[in-house]
Amino acid sequence: MIDIYGGYVYKKNIDWSVLHQGISIPVTIQKKFIKQASNYLDRGQSKPINLILNGKTYKAKLVNQLFNQEKYGDRADIVQIRYVPTSDIAVELRMIFNRSYQFLKQQREIDRESGRRRAISLPDDINESIAIYITDYPDTYVLECFNANDYNAIRQSIINIQEQDFEYSIDYNIVDENATIEQKILLTKVRRLNRAIGECLKELYEYRCQICGTNISYRYGISIAESHHIIPFIKSLNNNANNQIIVCPNHHRIIHKAEPEFKKEKLMFIYSNGFEEKIKMNRHL
Ligand SMILES: [Zn+2]
Ligand SMILES: [Zn+2]
Repeated sequence: MIDIYGGYVYKKNIDWSVLHQGISIPVTIQKKFIKQASNYLDRGQSKPINLILNGKTYKAKLVNQLFNQEKYGDRADIVQIRYVPTSDIAVELRMIFNRSYQFLKQQREIDRESGRRRAISLPDDINESIAIYITDYPDTYVLECFNANDYNAIRQSIINIQEQDFEYSIDYNIVDENATIEQKILLTKVRRLNRAIGECLKELYEYRCQICGTNISYRYGISIAESHHIIPFIKSLNNNANNQIIVCPNHHRIIHKAEPEFKKEKLMFIYSNGFEEKIKMNRHL
C-alpha cells in the first residue's frame, strides 16, 4: 500500500487542459514535486512518472518547460505533469469527469463557430476536482478524483451534520455510522484531502493563528492550530486552500459562536456587535 498520508497535496478544479494535456504545478510547491522526482529537472528536461488512479498505474511525464530565457530571464520554472490527449490517463479522466468534459466541449464548439476566444470556466453546479499526492516512491504520484456524483453523495451524507462537527471529524477519525460503504470511502477521501491542505497551511503559518498571530502551545512542544472553512464546508463543499484559514482554538470557538461575516477584500471579520477584527497574518488568501 502506498502511503499518501504524509504527502503534500495539490488540488485543482477541472479544466480542458487536465482532461487533455496535463497539469501545471504552482511555483509554491514545485520544489516538493521535483524533489520527489529522483533527480532535479533542469529547464528543458523531462522524466517519466507514474500516476496511480483508482489502483491502476498510468504513464506520464514531469516536464520543466524550456522558455525564452532572454526574454523572460527571471521567471520561475514552469513545471508540468504532461500527457497526450489520446493517452490512457487522459481518456480515463474524460470518463470520470464526463460532466465537465461535455460542458467544456459544447462551449468550445459554440466559441469556434462564433470565432470567440475566452477562458471557459465551469458553472457552480458542476463542481469537479482532482487532487495529487506525493508518495514515498520516486516519480510516483497518486491522483484522487472528485466528480459531480461524488460531491452529490458527499452532500447527502453530511446533510444532518453541523459545520463544527464536520471540521472536528477531519482531524479525528470519526466513524460514519449511518453512511453507506461508498459514502464512507468518499468521506474518508474528502477528509484526508481537507486535512492535507490544512496541514500545509498550518506549516505555512508556523502553526500560528492568522487572526491573532500567536502559537500559544509552542512552549509545550505541540500544535493546537486548527483549520476553519471561511464558507462552511457543509454548504460549499469547498476545501480549497483559499476557503481555509488557520486559527487558534479560542478564535475558532468565537467564530462559530458569534458567526461574524468575513470580508475577503479587507481580510477582516465583522461581528454583529460592530467589532471588527483584521487578520494579522496572510500569505494565501
Ligand atoms: Zn487566535
Ligand atoms: Zn470552523
